[in-house]
Amino acid sequence: MRFIDHHIVGHSGGAGAGRTGDVYDPNTGKVQASVTLGTQADLDRAIAAAQAAQPAWAATNPQRRARVMFRFKELVEANMDELAHLLSSEHGKVIADARGDIQRGLEVIEFCCGIPHVLKGEYTQGAGPGIDVYSMRQPLGIGAGITPFNFPAMIPLWMSGVAVATGNAFILKPSERDPSVPVRLAELFRDAGLPEGILQVVHGDKEMVDAILDHPAISAVSFVGSSDIAHYVYRRGVEAGKRVQAMGGAKNHGIVMPDADLDQVVADLSGAAFGSAGERCMALPVVVPVGDQTADRLREKLIPAIEALRVGVSTDAEAHYGPVVNAAHKQRVENWIQTGVDEGAELVVDGRGFTLQGHEDGFFVGPTLFDRVTTDMSAYKEEIFGPVLQIVRAKTFEDAVRLPSEHQYGNGVAIFTRNGHAAREFAARVNVGMVGINVPIPVPVAYHTFGGWKRSAFGDTNQHGMEGVKFWTKVKTVTQRWPDGFGMSGGDLPRGSE
Ligand code: NAD
Repeated sequence: MRFIDHHIVGHSGGAGAGRTGDVYDPNTGKVQASVTLGTQADLDRAIAAAQAAQPAWAATNPQRRARVMFRFKELVEANMDELAHLLSSEHGKVIADARGDIQRGLEVIEFCCGIPHVLKGEYTQGAGPGIDVYSMRQPLGIGAGITPFNFPAMIPLWMSGVAVATGNAFILKPSERDPSVPVRLAELFRDAGLPEGILQVVHGDKEMVDAILDHPAISAVSFVGSSDIAHYVYRRGVEAGKRVQAMGGAKNHGIVMPDADLDQVVADLSGAAFGSAGERCMALPVVVPVGDQTADRLREKLIPAIEALRVGVSTDAEAHYGPVVNAAHKQRVENWIQTGVDEGAELVVDGRGFTLQGHEDGFFVGPTLFDRVTTDMSAYKEEIFGPVLQIVRAKTFEDAVRLPSEHQYGNGVAIFTRNGHAAREFAARVNVGMVGINVPIPVPVAYHTFGGWKRSAFGDTNQHGMEGVKFWTKVKTVTQRWPDGFGMSGGDLPRGSE
């Protein structure tokens, strides 16, 4: 069986020693690899290598650091097919989505190719008599990233790209459910010329996460995952004196105004609610039609569109989506469907018990639609993270603004309308971090910034863009005065210069 090891300088652990985790092929339901689950001792080795390498990397001029980013981008592009297949085989998302996962991460690397420009700092000449003030952004030293299973390329690259380009050493603890692509990315960074010790990968579970959070040599931790764990990571990391950003779960709403183009909405929802089996933090699992007429018309169009979705193995080029990540998650999604039924929502399309011929043990869940979901139901309040779409009927625009605003999560939200004023009001008033206007999945481009509000993010800086640069650097401000030792202002000339 394939063994997935750490990527630590000088490490030659090999199979056999210590705890391991199973990595499944979600298409077949079979274990395809085993990943090492590391300990404090593994982390200590990675830290020692990072400490040895980081000062020289920080002293490397930013243009040279950017050149590594350029070369890395070329290498990832050259290996795109291999990476996408590997990603898809462990995660279960279809190849097109796997390529998108990698591509969105690469866009952060493209942003990092311009790192010399964003690190230029600020300068004020003559802030006082003979006094200038300037500021510079310096790396923090050693940073760590802890990432979820659902974007095993994009999210590690959100963090590692900016952390490394700004002069830090970075230690990644990827999800133990699909750990292979993060290791390949670290290898490609090495091949692109990144010095050893600047980007390392340690595998593990809670034991490794705790070791990272408590380690005094790590200055900053970036986390993405579910909200309870995000909150835990935030609290424990801050308690240890670190800078922490911790992104959590989501339950994004799509508001459908009576004037919306419903055919377009249905096409958008097919991708946004069901794509990647709903395992996206920017998926759109709640749709909020305004007015009963809108709701009825939308429902009528949604049912055939959902029934036409093709669920298949992740290598099926025709499939809309593949299996969910593992058996426990499949069970969890199906339990939530039952909870929705028990709480009184109307189950319109039931995806439970879905099997694919020849892949009966794969972790597939059919597309599911609920109508008449209400805000008191736990199946509405909690994140399901599966191919389940819930219709929550709103009477007015005001109700529609209130629903996502009052929800515990505040990652993304969308409004579908032809009315510019309604859209503008909605964007200004809704209590959510990322807003789409006729855009179902409003993930900002890499040179803007990604982050939700409320229980979708703990901490005060977002991922990538200038917010990412702020997170991974600290500002030093210099106030300087040079006394007129050379008599340039009319005093005596210094001795020897007559
Ligand atoms: P998860 O919380 O189970 O795992 C995330 C990371 O935390 C993994 O590296 C895992 O090893 C570690 N971890 C798991 N249990 C832990 C524990 N008890 N103590 C310490 N560390 C632990 O999340 P997941 O299932 O891998 O990913 C899906 C979740 O991530 C969803 O809730 C999704 O919304 C969220 N997510 C959020 C964003 C965002 O930007 N807000 C982006 C992607 C995913």
